Amino acid sequence: MRAHIFSGSLVAGMISVMLLSPVASAQTQTTSKANAQGGAELLWLGQAGFRIKSPNGKMILIDPWITGGPKTPPIYKNDLAAIGPIDLLLVTHAHVDHLGDAPALAKMNNTKLYGPADMVTPLVTLGILPADLGHRFNKTGRVTPLLGIKVTAVQAEHSSLLVWKNPATDKMESHPAGEPMGYIIELENGFKIWHMGDTGLFSDMKFIAEHYKPDLVLIPIGGNFTMAPDDAAYALRTWVKPKMVIPMHYNSNPLTKGTLAEFQEAMKGSSIKIIPMTEGQTVQL
Ligand SMILES: [Zn+2]
Repeated sequence: MRAHIFSGSLVAGMISVMLLSPVASAQTQTTSKANAQGGAELLWLGQAGFRIKSPNGKMILIDPWITGGPKTPPIYKNDLAAIGPIDLLLVTHAHVDHLGDAPALAKMNNTKLYGPADMVTPLVTLGILPADLGHRFNKTGRVTPLLGIKVTAVQAEHSSLLVWKNPATDKMESHPAGEPMGYIIELENGFKIWHMGDTGLFSDMKFIAEHYKPDLVLIPIGGNFTMAPDDAAYALRTWVKPKMVIPMHYNSNPLTKGTLAEFQEAMKGSSIKIIPMTEGQTVQL
């Protein structure tokens, strides 16, 4: 089914990138539900935050840094509930620009937060997340939280520290929070998205690509904490070679200076389709 839907030149034709305001994109969701084409829809919330609507209409939210994100569209930044009902919540690691509002959203939606085992544990022991709303897993672990949707945890070359204000002392505390992860998210129609999380270069990107065969890669390009545009282009051209890529994790922090233009320049001549997004934009896949 996957080969039928996403093979060859059909891919280019099936991707329509819509430049929409957040309000317009919310309207589109309503319309696209009525005219479902069987594809997925991605909304970029800024940094590494995405909401993916699966072909069967399930809502998957990853790394939701919403109320604190400098580039979060105001409709979501001012009202967390505007994100809508969430069927699956994923977090790659404990840094604030990834964990963000995930515990609040888990409680609001009564939805489990799936994340690195040793990140979920301190969230629970510190009382940030109720134990029944945390799912601990680890690299190579695979979960099937929704019918037809599989999520596999993969390596990310980064770090993970939980910084939290203890309400009892009103002081900031740092807690070890396990190792960061990336996710291979396989949707009901077999389409696979690799959300790399925060990562530097590592040569097993080649192994992950060969083993899991992602169609779309969400890749950090900002530098300083992750790959910079030239590093990301190297990984894509040399090791990963997906059909399409969406750059992320740039334009939100003065230290992450990598730009979309630098990434596009570094990818020049490659057949990998770049889908550039702006925060609040929605794309149909
Ligand atoms: Zn990080």
